[in-house]
Amino acid sequence: MKIFRERKAFQQAMADLKRTGKRLALVPTMGFLHEGHLSLIREAHKHADAVAVSIFVNPIQFGPTEDLDKYPRDFERDVRLCEQEKADFIFAPAPEEMYDSNASTRIIEKSLSSGLCGALRPGHFEGVCTVVAKLFNLSGADVAVFGEKDAQQLRVIKRMVRDLDFPVEIIGSPLVRDTDGLALSSRNRYLSEEERKRALVLNQALFAAKQAISRGGLAVAGEVAEAAEFEIKQRCDKLDYLKVLDSDTLQPPDANSREIIILAAAYFGKTRLIDSIKVEL
Ligand code: AMP
Repeated sequence: MKIFRERKAFQQAMADLKRTGKRLALVPTMGFLHEGHLSLIREAHKHADAVAVSIFVNPIQFGPTEDLDKYPRDFERDVRLCEQEKADFIFAPAPEEMYDSNASTRIIEKSLSSGLCGALRPGHFEGVCTVVAKLFNLSGADVAVFGEKDAQQLRVIKRMVRDLDFPVEIIGSPLVRDTDGLALSSRNRYLSEEERKRALVLNQALFAAKQAISRGGLAVAGEVAEAAEFEIKQRCDKLDYLKVLDSDTLQPPDANSREIIILAAAYFGKTRLIDSIKVEL
């Protein structure tokens, strides 16, 4: 496994690899890897001859009051895990290497990113789209794998790729949960034992809502959303949103909706967690 710190060296090596006719998959991450990330690497191997994992805590997707400085990092452990999963390359640039000091170009997706996390984290998806576009250009990957954990992000990236004709196929990979049901996240590291126990309300409320909608269909979606919101509010410190939406459009579901997605974001202590679950209609 080869580790790159410089973008030109990474770009050159990936171009050389692609000239030999190999298919390349990219797995973008912010590191502090867990089983959720590893499932993406395994998925990536199914679609390509070589897998590159990027590890980069992207400063421009964090708001001024967010957790950029304390975001958990453990590069040596990440390297070991990537090796275990037989990743071929790691791209781990420093922020000053990734962005020129007077970088002034951003990519803005204007529809799917406007609600949910986008409404509460101004500039977040702009930062995500910009870094992901750079990673696509640097790697020249044929395929890139993203987790359903970040459901809105996955849809925003797919839209960006379609709208801007990036020659890359986007694969969505299922959300991986801990044994108790909590969605795996690098940010779970921040939770105290007591907060972590309370955080289980997120997945429990989403699963209950899924069951109710599977039984009762869209007709019960409104009351189910209210009940889930009530449940989560009982145990979290602040609810950002609980929404039942069309899984493709992230708009309120209608008669044409084939699948819906129930999404939630809430604070437990100072830690903001997101979770989501899909329901086929
Ligand atoms: P992050 O390092 O949190 O930016 O995540 C990097 C990638 O891993 C994103 O595509 C995430 O959606 C994905 N990911 C994070 N947590 C999980 C999880 N629990 N299950 C599946 N994918 C995940």
